[in-house]
Amino acid sequence: MVTDAGGRIEYVNAAFEAVTGWRREEVLGRTPAILRSGLHDEGFYRRLWTRLRAGEAVREVFANRRRDGSLYHEDKTITPVRDATGRITHFVSTGRDVTEHLRDRERLAFLAHHDPLTGLPNRVLLLERLGQSLARARRHGRGAAVLLLDLDGFKVVNDSLGHSAGDALLREAARRLRAAVRDDDTVARFAGDEFALLLEDLAAAGDVERVAAKVRRALEPPFEVAGREVSLSASLGAALHPLDGDAPEDLLRCASTALHRARAGGRGGFRFYAAEMRARSDRRLDLESRLRHALDRGELELHYQPQVRLADGRVTCLEALLRWTHPVLGRVPPGEFVPVLEETGLIVPVGEWVLATACRQLRAWREAGLTGFAVAVNVSGAQLARPAFAEEVLAVLAREGVPPGGGCLELELTESLLMADVEASAARLARLREAGVRIAVDDFGTGHSSLAYLKRLPIQVLKIDRSFVADLHRDPDDRAIVRAILALGRSLGLEVLAEGVERREQLEFLRREGCDAMQGYLVSPPVPAEALPRVVATARLPS
Ligand code: C2E
Ligand code: MG
Ligand code: MG
Repeated sequence: MVTDAGGRIEYVNAAFEAVTGWRREEVLGRTPAILRSGLHDEGFYRRLWTRLRAGEAVREVFANRRRDGSLYHEDKTITPVRDATGRITHFVSTGRDVTEHLRDRERLAFLAHHDPLTGLPNRVLLLERLGQSLARARRHGRGAAVLLLDLDGFKVVNDSLGHSAGDALLREAARRLRAAVRDDDTVARFAGDEFALLLEDLAAAGDVERVAAKVRRALEPPFEVAGREVSLSASLGAALHPLDGDAPEDLLRCASTALHRARAGGRGGFRFYAAEMRARSDRRLDLESRLRHALDRGELELHYQPQVRLADGRVTCLEALLRWTHPVLGRVPPGEFVPVLEETGLIVPVGEWVLATACRQLRAWREAGLTGFAVAVNVSGAQLARPAFAEEVLAVLAREGVPPGGGCLELELTESLLMADVEASAARLARLREAGVRIAVDDFGTGHSSLAYLKRLPIQVLKIDRSFVADLHRDPDDRAIVRAILALGRSLGLEVLAEGVERREQLEFLRREGCDAMQGYLVSPPVPAEALPRVVATARLPS
């Protein structure tokens, strides 16, 4: 194509006519804008013209339209032509239709990453996506899983009905698998009858089982191939991130081992790589990774449960109890998540937060005129084990503006914890006691206490574990135990509090036997801080 300096077409050759579908007479005097596809923005043509007018030759791949509107790609070179004085008089454009070539390139790229039979991603693409998915899972603390699946009995179909029947069956299986999972999940085909599923954004390992069941159901209806009905089942092996591995290849290897074991167990089997551990671990790991963010995301909260003195029915202390509400899991009971905090060491920062929050709350109540009670905070082994434990507690008190003395703070420690290293505990706690902090033994009666040791620890309160209180009204053994603890407390000069008091008969027994204080649903369950002013004002001991 030759245009004049203003871009008006003066000449086109037969190749132009063949490629574009325009005839020479139709285009003479018009501009190449007739070929525009609308796929390049205005800037593209502006830049092009700037360069051309500057006398530069330009080579670009243009997306153009033929006369019939169809799209083609042209690898075009436009050259400005100057006259003797150096003025541009014409532009000469030569080009080649590269549509097919580009399609081939795309197709090659597609083939490198897909299985030609089913069009599903192949192993290369699955590994690539798995790598990305694991990075996301690590960032968001979510789980990911790889499921490997093979079709039991496929080989028989292939051998007896022929390869084209086998291919048809694989295509249909691929379609069903695709339909059984979420759009974001990847279904890939490896070799032969082996498929892989990459499941992302899992909340729990239970999700994997659900998907596995769904996949199996999807493959259950008979397949129609070569005019015959064929029934297949699938064996499945699963590996979980991060439980079974953190690298794509590791996870695939684990899934493959799991699939192997599943097949060994007979048709239609399903195995997790870490089957034995799974049941216990999945929820735990799940909790663990979520707990790591609980503090930052403000998912933790304290509830407070009053402790009441039996002599006058007054609330003398409020025990701070940790509550965790996860946006997806909802309320997780402390009995489940506190042990995870303890094992991961997260209890140290969380424990410090509990202490600081309880102190800040106490101060707020005091400033609002609500006085006469202390707060009690539970302490874990990992906290007490820190050599600077006492100093750290006192530092939090100072920071929150709560004086350690004056009956502001009580720490609750279990007896097994205290007995683990009596010498160290005694020294650390003595420092706190001197400063005016009260020490209570929580869940008393459930661990092994050496009475001699008990005497050497600077404790003031024994909290009778609620398992002895629960059946107090009907179990003579429990009554005997509680009487013994009360006697022990008296002889050691300790206050005794009964936990978990729910019934009047229990309270009556405790009163008769000279117990000092109680805590339990009979007076109030643990409640949020906002509810406390009302609870403290109205908490009544039934007479
Ligand atoms: P704990 O320190 O022995 O707390 C008393 C538990 O008894 C609380 O359970 C409380 O809700 C429950 N309870 C109170 N009254 C009654 C009653 O009348 N009947 C019954 N059946 N139960 C009653 P919760 O809140 O589930 O806490 C369980 C345990 O989790 C606590 O036992 C404590 O060991 C631990 N925990 C809670 N918060 C913290 C914390 O901030 N730090 C640490 N280290 N541990 C904590
Ligand atoms: Mg406690
Ligand atoms: Mg307790």
